[in-house]
Amino acid sequence: MNRVHVIGAGVAGLATAVSLTRAGRAVVLYEASGQAGGRCRSYVDAKLACTIDNGNHLLLSGNQAAIRYLADIGASQELHGPPSARFPFLDLATGERWCLQPNGGRLPWWLLSPGRRVPGTKIWSYLSALRFAAAGSRTVTDCVGEDSVLFRRFWEPLAVAVLNTPAQTGAARLLWPVFRDTFAKGEAACRPRVAKTGLSDAFVEPALALLRRSGATLRFGRRLGQIQYEAGRAQLLEFGDVSVPLDDGDRVVLALPPAATGALLPALTVPEASHVIVNAHFALSEPAALPAMSPFLGLIGGTAQWLFVRGNVASITISAADTVAEASAEEIARKTWNDVAAALDRDPHTIPTYRVIKERRATFAQTPAEVLRRPKTRSAFANVFLAGDWIDTGLPATIEGAIRSGYSAAQAVIRSGGSTGQAG
Ligand SMILES: Cc1cc2nc3c(=O)[nH]c(=O)nc-3n(C[C@H](O)[C@H](O)[C@H](O)COP(=O)(O)OP(=O)(O)OC[C@H]3O[C@@H](n4cnc5c(N)ncnc54)[C@H](O)[C@@H]3O)c2cc1C
Repeated sequence: MNRVHVIGAGVAGLATAVSLTRAGRAVVLYEASGQAGGRCRSYVDAKLACTIDNGNHLLLSGNQAAIRYLADIGASQELHGPPSARFPFLDLATGERWCLQPNGGRLPWWLLSPGRRVPGTKIWSYLSALRFAAAGSRTVTDCVGEDSVLFRRFWEPLAVAVLNTPAQTGAARLLWPVFRDTFAKGEAACRPRVAKTGLSDAFVEPALALLRRSGATLRFGRRLGQIQYEAGRAQLLEFGDVSVPLDDGDRVVLALPPAATGALLPALTVPEASHVIVNAHFALSEPAALPAMSPFLGLIGGTAQWLFVRGNVASITISAADTVAEASAEEIARKTWNDVAAALDRDPHTIPTYRVIKERRATFAQTPAEVLRRPKTRSAFANVFLAGDWIDTGLPATIEGAIRSGYSAAQAVIRSGGSTGQAG
């Protein structure tokens, strides 16, 4: 009986396994750690005495692969957000607050309304987004400059959040598909969406439950250390002291981070640089709410870039945070609580219990040069396929990109033949 060995149980590996299982393939899913989810996971934090996510994750209703994946695993109800697209912001330097409100339909007449766009900006300055469509190897600031109010209050926060890379070095071409699939389609495609109770409840546990029900085999604590190749094919998977020989019809999908994949596939070019994301979670004494019942608030001019509130946990995100991450957790908590206190009208001197998480390799550095190092789904070996947010999906390294890469890998496996059957 032929099997597909999916290595890595982040959302890319889970999407691959779910898609293949639904297509009737026998799947064995291996994960090095004791928990699935990878960079998109929840855990019980003893200090905060509650379940938190490793980092705040924001999706948009136009993220079609993510929406389809949640439907596939029966977890559509686990994402929630406002009934219409609203993006509230606070400028910490001036105290000014505003809310971006795209309109329905493809004609962006909301830009004509000063009350719905960024204060202090002119309508034509938004047209610079069109330059992303043919950005080639240009950076975000090459396309939109960096001296305008619109840059400080819109392009920079957006680009840094989406690319986890400074706007000065971030690849503008990756922003285009995001605009095309969300803002350019009107309000219904850019409604903000977050996990209702946690990332694992939305993206991980329902997928694992589906895989178990479907007869897939799940192996945690299995780190793939080496692959033996012969005659252009992978022949043996070596997990420490456990070796798994591959039959002719077996397939392997590596859904791993770039460095781990590069170590297993000789001569593969992978992105090498990465950037940090820092999150700080604060346990408030009582639940808080953001304006317009939004689950998040954009912060301009502070240390924190985004504030998310879920119940009595206020969490901030700082992307491209390589310099910030050099500071101690205490220092980061002090500075970012200052921002949270201003946003939620709390005492800046009384810092609640907090947890700071520094995700050192949160995503690859999405610069024009590193984007060129993204490999395709098919590897040089006939029975080995690649998935992960860093594969050449044309999208930024996000949940949407990771899931799309997983579905593409599953399709490639199916197209490559091999018989179907259930894993033992
Ligand atoms: C703090 C933070 C905030 C983010 N915010 C957002 C956001 O707001 N919106 C958004 O869309 N995206 C966001 N992202 C990005 C998103 O989390 C990633 O794009 C996505 O989770 C990547 O999934 P993946 O499956 O490609 O990789 P991973 O999650 O890295 O999965 C790889 C898996 O492989 C396992 N593994 C590694 N080596 C081996 C081995 N040798 N053998 C077996 N298993 C192995 C790992 O343990 C891991 O579970 C954020 C990421 C971070 C870190």
